[in-house]
Amino acid sequence: QVPLKPGRSLMDWIRLTKSGKDLTGLKGRLIEVTEDELSKHNKKEDCWICIRGFVYNVTPYMEYHPGGEDELMRAAGTDGTDLFDQVHRWVNYESMLKECLVGRMAVKPIAAPKANILMTLLFAGVLPEKKVLATSSAKDLSPRLSSFFFLFLLYPGFITSYDWFQTDSLITIVIYTKQKDMDAELVIVDCQDKQLRGEIIMDDHSYLVEVDLDHAVSEDVAVNIAEKVGKVEIILSKKDNIHWKMLGQPREGHNTFIKRIDRGLFFRKCKLVSKTQVTHDTKLFCLLLPKGTHLCVPTGQHVYLKQVIAGTEVVKPYTPVLPFSSLDFEEPPCHDGVHIYLMIKIYSHGLFTQALDHLQIGDYISVSNPEGNFKKSQVQTSEDLFLLAGGTGFTPMVKLLNFALTEVSCRRTVKLMFFNKTEDDILWRNQLEQLALKDERFEVQFILSQPSKEWVGKQGKISSSLLSEFMKRSRRDSKVLICICGPAPFTEQGVQYLKDLGYSQEEIHAFTA
Ligand code: FAD
Ligand code: NAD
Repeated sequence: QVPLKPGRSLMDWIRLTKSGKDLTGLKGRLIEVTEDELSKHNKKEDCWICIRGFVYNVTPYMEYHPGGEDELMRAAGTDGTDLFDQVHRWVNYESMLKECLVGRMAVKPIAAPKANILMTLLFAGVLPEKKVLATSSAKDLSPRLSSFFFLFLLYPGFITSYDWFQTDSLITIVIYTKQKDMDAELVIVDCQDKQLRGEIIMDDHSYLVEVDLDHAVSEDVAVNIAEKVGKVEIILSKKDNIHWKMLGQPREGHNTFIKRIDRGLFFRKCKLVSKTQVTHDTKLFCLLLPKGTHLCVPTGQHVYLKQVIAGTEVVKPYTPVLPFSSLDFEEPPCHDGVHIYLMIKIYSHGLFTQALDHLQIGDYISVSNPEGNFKKSQVQTSEDLFLLAGGTGFTPMVKLLNFALTEVSCRRTVKLMFFNKTEDDILWRNQLEQLALKDERFEVQFILSQPSKEWVGKQGKISSSLLSEFMKRSRRDSKVLICICGPAPFTEQGVQYLKDLGYSQEEIHAFTA
């Protein structure tokens, strides 16, 4: 992130896009752009970038880009899709840059897969017959076939497939993932208005079943998992007890197994059911998932919220926490599977958080599928867990704490160093102190950067000396995991201090954007 000049905030950009000004220089005309043409527009004052086949003139946006002009210029005159995905794929560029759209890239002819390859795949059982028949034409099949073919070559053991069957009242879709340790957090199902979307997460890939169902189903969706063999069942209840001839019509992403990063974010609308004050500026938002949704956000992962602000879709990440009462931590985490709790600081000039704060109980907000690269196994194998949080960087620590204290048997210590500006800013202070009293494995220390005169605890910002004083191992060679989250400079400095203190990269997990 770079500091933006005054008058160059996201809100200012939204205003400019609504002003009717010609931002492409093409007076609203859309053109077909060749690679050659694209490459000519590679200067700051004339900069075109292609993202997923669409070309944008980003020159007017330069000064508004939170990542700075230099970052945008890295993709000048080229296809910036990969770069964009690495840095901020969640930014809703289609909405943000719609007034900058120059046109589409001219399509290069693609060689069609040879018939004998199609037949080989069919006979090899890579594409079960049912799926081939359910698809309308060979043309629709070809891109999918070629991706399956490559997959087959690359990961012969990883081919995922599905099947379905019915009884009088139920439709069961069975997905054979062949993945051991499959669990409920890896299955995300949305079933609304005859549309079914079931996504199975397998490391950095995902498999999708996405169909317009043949007939109506009720909103009750059940998910069964046979963990050892990696079989997933999605069970739907028929509205009418009639015999289905087919599961339905495949949608665009149906039956694909691709990198998660290549799947667009999927959002569903959730209802705001409560809003509770946590501190003077931070609130706990409780969102209700739609009835036909099965979604549990894994420990250490975040979701994206999407709101339309002044006519533009704006997307920001937030890390779900557990409800207040779960800080009792007597039971393993209870993902009720129905609610998502978000602890959000409302900034007085914040574009997104101000809009969030104006939501009324009963209003709806779009919530994405979870993302993040934290792996719970890192916690499972460590004996000493150190959590370093700055401000709302506390949010990923909530589920982590719960997980470490309830589900990991070799755990010896969990220590939380919580950095805040003032006493009033400390989130869930009481609960954390209660927990420390109750569970001798847990210790918490609050460090204030702007303390009042009365504060007798630790003060200052993150430093080598504070860290080395606090982070004592339970035994000399204990396995350690350190998780750190907070404002970017806090996290960057913290990681550097930890490395200086001799901790290895593998022992540190930094939560970043
Ligand atoms: P903006 O309009 O972007 O900023 C307006 C002003 O607000 C800034 O000038 C500044 O004064 C202040 N401000 C805004 N953002 C920050 C900041 N990050 N640090 C310090 N000052 C700032 N936030 C939560 O409250 N809870 C969460 O659980 C949470 N989870 C996150 C997870 C991830 C992976 C990431 C990357 C961020 C997370 N955030 C979380 C931050 C959140 O995404 C937004 O950045 C934040 O809510 C501010 O958005 P805004 O549009 O209101 O502010
Ligand atoms: P804040 O401004 O209230 O600061 C909290 C503490 O962080 C300060 O008391 C100080 O000790 C430390 N700090 C702040 N600025 C620092 C700096 N420049 N150098 C060293 N230490 C510094 O924090 P906030 O407003 O609650 O912001 C929390 C941040 O955490 C946000 O930037 C948010 O984006 C981030 N966050 C990230 C994730 C994630 O998963 N990546 C999750 C939640 C929050």
